[in-house]
Amino acid sequence: MYKLRKQKQEHKSNCLICGHPLEYLSSAFELTCFYCGKKEKGSIFCSSDRYHYVCDDCHNLSSFNYIKDFILSTGGKNPFEITFDILNNPNVTVPMLGCHHAYILTGAVLASLKNRGHIHISRADIEELFYRLSKQAVGGYCGLSGVCGIVPAGGIIYSILTGSVCGKDKEQKITMKITALLSKAVFDLTGPSCCKAYLFKALEIISASLYEDFNFLLIDNDVDITCNFKELHPHGCMREKCPYYADSYIVNVEKLKESLKDTTIEINFKLDKSSFENNNNIPPAPC
Ligand SMILES: [Zn+2]
Ligand SMILES: [Zn+2]
Repeated sequence: MYKLRKQKQEHKSNCLICGHPLEYLSSAFELTCFYCGKKEKGSIFCSSDRYHYVCDDCHNLSSFNYIKDFILSTGGKNPFEITFDILNNPNVTVPMLGCHHAYILTGAVLASLKNRGHIHISRADIEELFYRLSKQAVGGYCGLSGVCGIVPAGGIIYSILTGSVCGKDKEQKITMKITALLSKAVFDLTGPSCCKAYLFKALEIISASLYEDFNFLLIDNDVDITCNFKELHPHGCMREKCPYYADSYIVNVEKLKESLKDTTIEINFKLDKSSFENNNNIPPAPC
């Protein structure tokens, strides 16, 4: 299956197979995956007369493997640069829309934390976090349930850092704080949805929050975000409504701190990093 996909030219937006616009259904019905032949209930398919359907596993497979390898091998310390290295690599297809962006977010931040010496990450850890994401970052469900995969992606980073599992106190609270912040940011940016904008904003929020909560600084210099994806959006770029539509969008640490102050969600405690240092930073099993 993997070989077959590598031989084909995949489209970065719309239908992966033929590039036609996609249909989004309000009710799922049984469809057959073009790549693996799996029959399952789905709600997104190609509008061409060939009705292409790609299951979530196949939609994500080649880029997930690439993202995993990249996270483990990169020496990058800046999560924005790691993200753009993945998005701009011509050898991997990251569709314009899709939960790949949630995986890139988690991976880029954890790679940055690893390369700055804050945590150790093994392939088994990455498998664990990808498994968790697969449970809650599901293609198209941003529109069907109101939860974008970027939200649990941020929660997984905090869960890995704090050892949060169901039933823990401060660890779960602070994990839910970051998901609340991200959900609010996704809400602010929607109209229509844009996975690229969500990813960029989530990187800003998590970078600020990790600094505020744990004193982990992920960027040393200003970052200039340039969005090269405006013409690829199948539902239309938000243009001037999007903060990343301008030719240049500068991120710096002071701006990150300011953006956190804008939120209406406040949690008046800080987790003491020493309280979870005994976790050895090994992700616990999900509850
Ligand atoms: Zn198609
Ligand atoms: Zn499939």
